[in-house]
Amino acid sequence: MAVHEIQAKTMLSHHTRPDPWFGLKYTFNIYRGCQHRCIYCDSRSACYGIEDFDDILVKVNAIERLADELPRKRVRGLVGTGSMSDPYGPIEAHYGLTRQALELLVHHRYPLHLITKSDLVLRDVDLLARLADVAAYVSFTVTTADDDLAAQLEPGAPSPTQRYAAMTALAAVGVKVGVTMMPILPFIEDTVENVTAVVASAMSAGATYVLPGFGMTLRDRQRDYYYAQLDLLFPGLRRRYEQRYGDRYEAACPNAGVLQAGFDALVKRHGLQTRVPPYKQPPRGEQPRLL
Ligand code: SF4
Repeated sequence: MAVHEIQAKTMLSHHTRPDPWFGLKYTFNIYRGCQHRCIYCDSRSACYGIEDFDDILVKVNAIERLADELPRKRVRGLVGTGSMSDPYGPIEAHYGLTRQALELLVHHRYPLHLITKSDLVLRDVDLLARLADVAAYVSFTVTTADDDLAAQLEPGAPSPTQRYAAMTALAAVGVKVGVTMMPILPFIEDTVENVTAVVASAMSAGATYVLPGFGMTLRDRQRDYYYAQLDLLFPGLRRRYEQRYGDRYEAACPNAGVLQAGFDALVKRHGLQTRVPPYKQPPRGEQPRLL
């Protein structure tokens, strides 16, 4: 793995319509490439233009750019990070740029949604607790509750047990936490037992929502990398994928209907939501003071 420092021209992307999953108005990514090395990572796809995903590009002027762009936004809305690269990969322990971005969001009182697989997020629990007065959502991606299987599928990421422990600690200080249970890999993670275990552990850790995805995406470089890893980890399984999915982009689990039905019953029974609770901006004059 190599680390390259780069300059970003802009940091905040603006969504004309908030996305349906998280309700994001703005997104930013400080890093490109990711050290968690999930074998299924969609960010390896050619359309994202990252030649070697295992190399990390660090936008070293990210805070300067955000400090300039945030106060100039006329519409306040949920700011998201973590969709393209984990904001709490091991590199963040060295650069601390995600922490500085959180400091800016606290200062400007912007609500935040972040996705991570890392308990390094706990380093910033003080800032997230302060941001919770506006809105702070932390979604942990968990595709299996089995630490041994996760070590094969997500070899650079902290274990699901560590993620759930971090979730518990964040929930205790008022941060809204939940699970993005996606992808669920066909023929590997697509069992009722796995889905039930992920949801049960999420509930125990204080999650208020679980977002499911019973399948995965497969395209160009991402597919090539995934199939090469399957050959190493699960010899013979590639053939089943090729037969079932061919060149298709969307690879739904063959038993997606069964999994969805079981999931629906679980979340209904336990009162879990299946979307991030929508952020509602308080009327002017009622916004809490953070500083
Ligand atoms: S943590 Fe997310 S961005 Fe990083 S390798 Fe895994 S799926 Fe990709």
